[in-house]
Amino acid sequence: MREIVILSGKGGTGKTTLTAAFAHLSENKILCDLDVDAPDLHLILSPTAIESAEFFSGNEAVIDRSLCTGCGICRDMCRYQAISETDGAFSVNPLKCEGCKVCVHFCPAGAVEFPQRHCGQWRVSGTRFGPMVHARLFPGQENSGKLVSLLKRRAKELAGEQGRDLIICDGAPGIGCPVISSLSGADLAVAVTEPTPSGRHDLLRVAELCSHFRLPLGVIVNKWDINEEETAQIEDLCAKKGIGVLGRLPHDPVVTEAMVRGQSVTEFDPDGFGRLVKEAFGSVMDMAFASKAA
Ligand code: SF4
Ligand code: SF4
Repeated sequence: MREIVILSGKGGTGKTTLTAAFAHLSENKILCDLDVDAPDLHLILSPTAIESAEFFSGNEAVIDRSLCTGCGICRDMCRYQAISETDGAFSVNPLKCEGCKVCVHFCPAGAVEFPQRHCGQWRVSGTRFGPMVHARLFPGQENSGKLVSLLKRRAKELAGEQGRDLIICDGAPGIGCPVISSLSGADLAVAVTEPTPSGRHDLLRVAELCSHFRLPLGVIVNKWDINEEETAQIEDLCAKKGIGVLGRLPHDPVVTEAMVRGQSVTEFDPDGFGRLVKEAFGSVMDMAFASKAA
């Protein structure tokens, strides 16, 4: 089984467009949307839920007003200013509560409950390209890395149960906690970048991260023709660092048109832009095979 993670240094580089196209082009795979803070693969793949579950992580304080005597000790002791009082009633702001449990410990009335924090939901869904594992964190919730690990584990289980030999993951942008979790156990990272100075800088950060985890990295330069000089610099950089350039894709309004219609670019324009994406995908799979063999 091979696992490919599509990354980008920042959002909006075309990462999800390419992931959806790769999903269309590949056989016998599981799809996994690991961008749990802002998932959008579902916009193209129109999934139908098969299995769903709630995601809990950590704990949060909740005051039981029927037991609270209004002494104010919890508010005074909370260093995160998560507890406030309105007209004599004390309550916890869940967005500020860090789950340190101090208020639970010091409440003389035993009025502070400490339930698990409900952070989001995850699903296994059917799509026209095959099963997809995906999730959504609720606004302001943390532990996205833990949710990413859960999704990857479920994707691997499903692949084993269904005899599928490829997992294609749409990773989160940047180099934060969910991205680090998404790299664990992968065989190849593919960074989608645009030819701008910030795109080159972001690519360097992704390259350092992959190098740290000894994960092979390939690069696809999207909209290469908006700045040919910068594209050349990115490709030089890749050559110096031993990073494979797996494709160049031009700027093309057909990408937006496909998205508006809820289609992958390879469905919408198979002989134009879709053909270039197909060539890039061939290079991605060659590199994934090569890295697995190595
Ligand atoms: S410490 Fe307990 S009893 Fe006192 S205000 Fe807080 S919740 Fe209420
Ligand atoms: S658990 Fe900690 S952070 Fe949350 S309300 Fe209690 S004291 Fe404040």
